[in-house]
Amino acid sequence: MSVEKEIAPLVLIVSGPSGSGKSTLVQKILELPGTMPSVSCTTRPRRATESSGKCYDFVSEAEFDAMAARGEFLEYARVFGRHSYGTPKKWLEESRKRGLDLVLEIDVQGAAQVKEKLPKSVAIFILPPSREELERRLRSRGQDSEEEIARRLAEAREEIAAFGKYYDFCVVNEDVERAGREVQAIVTALRCTSSRRRDQVQRLLASFGG
Ligand code: 5GP
Repeated sequence: MSVEKEIAPLVLIVSGPSGSGKSTLVQKILELPGTMPSVSCTTRPRRATESSGKCYDFVSEAEFDAMAARGEFLEYARVFGRHSYGTPKKWLEESRKRGLDLVLEIDVQGAAQVKEKLPKSVAIFILPPSREELERRLRSRGQDSEEEIARRLAEAREEIAAFGKYYDFCVVNEDVERAGREVQAIVTALRCTSSRRRDQVQRLLASFGG
């Protein structure tokens, strides 16, 4: 068995307000070898640009409730008070089986649940540089109604106010290239922590003999 497989893979939670650019930064993390995404289930209707299985598994309310009742979610939440989103536990099992660091893109309620269940998980909070810029980004996506944009801005304020409690890292997404380098650097640094390198140190020592 390889050294990496003996250590539980990282569970990386990425969250932040809608429009903060977290999906792009999640993709930057997933460019690193040794990572895999978690695919959430949601009851939200699919957008024209989305296909099932890639961004989300789109399920009915009844399917979602049945999965929750069977205890199949690591976490789940009702986001914006309307649709349910959840992380199936199967991705955690898959990441452990394959020895790959798991990346979760979830909201702040979900992040709090994962941190409570898996205290070793690492939460990264993505922030927009300003409220104005967040609003501009939400509008330029052209996917939400005025009502939805107003809801997402109000929600963003709540999320930012609550962030300090659960997040280990905070990345301000002003320049996406720079923010991308920062999230990759966080993952790289986490992989180099001495507790995760203990076995390698032991093997190195053993290779000296004596
Ligand atoms: P959207 O509808 O724009 O794709 O996502 C809305 C919000 O739901 C985003 O903040 C997104 O991160 C969050 N979200 C996506 N998947 C999950 C999940 O599995 N669990 C939780 N708690 N939130 C999620």
